[in-house]
Amino acid sequence: MGSDSRLLLILPLILFGCSTIEKLGTNQTTSESNTERHEQLHSVLWLQTSVEYAGITKGAYALAALRMDEALSDTMWTASLEQLGSAAYASLPPAVVLDVDETVLDNSAFQARLVEDDLPYDGNIWNEWVMEEKAGSIPGALDFTRYAASKGVHVIYLTNREAGVETSTENNLRALGFPMNSGEQSVISKRERPEWGSSDKSSRRAFVSERYRVLLLIGDNYGDFTEEANGSLLERRRSSSNYASYWGKKWIVLPNPMYGTWERALFNYDYGASESEKIRLKRANLFTNR
Ligand SMILES: [Mg+2]
Repeated sequence: MGSDSRLLLILPLILFGCSTIEKLGTNQTTSESNTERHEQLHSVLWLQTSVEYAGITKGAYALAALRMDEALSDTMWTASLEQLGSAAYASLPPAVVLDVDETVLDNSAFQARLVEDDLPYDGNIWNEWVMEEKAGSIPGALDFTRYAASKGVHVIYLTNREAGVETSTENNLRALGFPMNSGEQSVISKRERPEWGSSDKSSRRAFVSERYRVLLLIGDNYGDFTEEANGSLLERRRSSSNYASYWGKKWIVLPNPMYGTWERALFNYDYGASESEKIRLKRANLFTNR
C-alpha cells in the first residue's frame, strides 16, 4: 500500500476524530458557559463581597440622615410628587418612605441561589424565599431607620412584595431590628387593597401622602420615586433629568446591579421573550464607541 493510499484510509479517522473532539470541546464550553456565565454572577458577588457596595449604601444612608434633619426643620419640604400642588401636607406628621428589597433587606442570597442553580427569576421561588425570612439588612439601613424613629419620624416600608407574604416581610424586618410603628401600618404591600394591585407604587404613595408629610423617598429602583420608571431607556433618562434637584436631596437611591426596571427596559419589558432573546436585546444596548 502506497503512502497516498494509507493517508486515504487514515484521513476519515483523523477528520472524524477532530470533529468529535471539536464537538466535545464545544459541548463542554457550552455547558460550562451556562453555569459559569450566569448573567448575575458579577453583580451578586459585588453586592455580597465588595467593601465598595457597603461603603456606598452606608454613605447613602448617612446622607439620608442629614437630609432628614433638614427636612424636619422645613415644613414645606416634601419628597413626594403626590404632595405637590397643595400645602395641606405641611401640618401632617413626618414620615420617611423606604422600599424594602435591596433598600432595607438584602436578598442577594436568593440571587446567589439563582446563579448557583442556573435559573432565571421566578415569582414562586421568590415568594418561597420571602417566607424563609432569611434576608439580611442593607448596610446603613438599620442605623438610619432607628435614627428616624428616635426623632419621632414614622418609618414606612412600601414594597412590591405581595400582601400574601406580608407577615413574613414583617417578621424578617422585626427580627433584624428594624423599627415598626406600633398600632400603625408600617409595611405597605402590593395587593393589600384592591386598588393596590399594580407594581406602580404611586397609588400607595398617594395613600401615604394623605396621612404623612413625606420627608424622604429611599429606594433602589426608579419606581420607588415616580411612576415614570416604566418607559424606554430614553424616556427614563428624560424623566430622571426632570427631577435633577431631587436626587441626593429628597430622593436617596441605592445601587442594585442585580435587577430592576433599568434591566427590564433593556429588553423592552418583553417578558415573553426567551432568555437568549433578552440577552440579545440587552447586548444591542452596549455602547462601544467604535
Ligand atoms: Mg427594591
